[in-house]
Amino acid sequence: MTPDLRDDGSAGPVSGQDWARAVELISAADEIALACHVSPDGDALGSMLGVGIALRAAGKRVTASFGDRRFTVPRLLRFLPGQELLADPAHYPAAPEVMVTFDVPTVGRLGVLTGNTAKAHELVVLDHHPSNTGFGTLNLVDPGAAATAVLAEELIHRLGLPVDKDIATCLYVGLVTDTGSFRHSSTTPDAHAMAARLLATGLDPEKIARELWDRSPFGYLKVLGAVLDRVRLEPEVGGGLVWTFVTRADRAAYGLPYDEIEGMIDVIRRTDQADVATILKEDDDGVWQVSMRSKGGVDVSRVSAALGGGGHAKAAGFTSHQPIEETIESLRALL
Ligand code: 5GP
Ligand code: MN
Repeated sequence: MTPDLRDDGSAGPVSGQDWARAVELISAADEIALACHVSPDGDALGSMLGVGIALRAAGKRVTASFGDRRFTVPRLLRFLPGQELLADPAHYPAAPEVMVTFDVPTVGRLGVLTGNTAKAHELVVLDHHPSNTGFGTLNLVDPGAAATAVLAEELIHRLGLPVDKDIATCLYVGLVTDTGSFRHSSTTPDAHAMAARLLATGLDPEKIARELWDRSPFGYLKVLGAVLDRVRLEPEVGGGLVWTFVTRADRAAYGLPYDEIEGMIDVIRRTDQADVATILKEDDDGVWQVSMRSKGGVDVSRVSAALGGGGHAKAAGFTSHQPIEETIESLRALL
């Protein structure tokens, strides 16, 4: 089955010519290097591995990676098929013949792989961020797509490659995480139609949901308890701001890895009195990774961009080297 296409053969703002060029470039290459953004989420890693498995099955030599200085796959995403395609950035091709990026809006989000793009002969950018800067030699960017996985599926179809259960599992993880389990406004008929195509391969949605959202080490509950205990509501800031933080020490007390705390923002953001929810997460280097969510009153991608980050209108983030109070003060001023 192929996805629904417009009369001109395109889906969204990616033109039929650009798709044809992508197919041409990728078909002609023996070796393809794939990369997604640092601290990959389900859509970044799922899209990349889905395409990676399909290309490997087509006989290509595939390397896939992301540019974190400490290269580890988030525990939540280790169940994804195709992990054997992943290589430490140290072993990534320095000058790839064809490099394809997934869910990367700005070249800097490739982390330590940023430099590899300059030497790539062709750089194909697959993304759905409205803020994508078009840093590729070919940019397949559709801000109307619910997930980068939507573009990944179309690329696989256009290459004439089959989507098996493993590929479908990867793409489904991208779709289900970026639509917030089909709760966000990105939950279009097309998103459900794609889910139907993927489910038809026999993938296990119950297992996927359990891996992504319904399990964690016991220490998660203890850290969440501390994080909720110190949460602050500032109704007078913007349309209301609710915020909290997680330190390295909080996590160390229960041996909780950094990537386990990603879902905590979803608890914080349920607060009725706040349009914006923010959580500051201290990583293993002592740097603060700040996650922001909005119910729509404020475009948090603009706030994040003003502080050196980016993202979507309702989900964005940035990195801060300031102490907590100073970061929050900057946020208050912008909100
Ligand atoms: P999360 O809060 O789930 O880590 O990220 C939400 C959104 O914000 C994602 O689309 C992600 O790409 C973006 N984002 C998060 N952190 C950063 C950052 O430090 N820099 C940029 N440019 N975007 C970020
Ligand atoms: Mn992403």
